[in-house]
Amino acid sequence: MILDFKFIIAGSIIIALLIPLYIYREEIYKRFYKKGDVRSFIRNLDSYLSVKYPKINFDFSKLAELIADEKDIRIQETLIVENLVQQFAYWEYELNTQKSIPKSKLWNNYMANSQLLKDNQLPIDWSQRKKAAWVRDNNKCNRCGAKIDLQDSNALLAKQMKNGGGFNLENIVILCSDCTRIIKSNNIERTKKDLNILDKLMAKVTT
Ligand SMILES: [Zn+2]
Repeated sequence: MILDFKFIIAGSIIIALLIPLYIYREEIYKRFYKKGDVRSFIRNLDSYLSVKYPKINFDFSKLAELIADEKDIRIQETLIVENLVQQFAYWEYELNTQKSIPKSKLWNNYMANSQLLKDNQLPIDWSQRKKAAWVRDNNKCNRCGAKIDLQDSNALLAKQMKNGGGFNLENIVILCSDCTRIIKSNNIERTKKDLNILDKLMAKVTT
């Protein structure tokens, strides 16, 4: 009999808790399920990405299919962002040698410092070389085309020293931090979760 009594108490408490749930069901429903115009979200991303990363051809044709089974706008938008970041991360790219710059713009000891140094050290004029390559490339990432500040850019060698590459400007490629991470990654699935582009696009998702 004692057990029955406890059961009644517990039952009453549960019912008491369910009443506000019933009264506020509209509010609760709204919190968990949001509608919105996903087409304008896609249009906004399309124009944002084509300006920001002009060298990456994002494919928007399969996004509608991707979200067809989802009703919540936030889930739809998140799936779209994940897909676009995936496309960014897997965009095929190879490091290649670049344009020369006019001899008149080179400096003393440029040629001597282009050679391989002991212990694979960077040459003394490395920051000058990086800047010259960044200016040559109009301050843009070679892979995605994003505009980057000098301090946010990375200078990579197209041909590694061990393969006969040098520190000459033709062998220096300027990349943004996301593209550098992708190029150096041995696990793109993990790397794509750490990219700045993911944060930037997720900031546009409806909250
Ligand atoms: Zn880039």
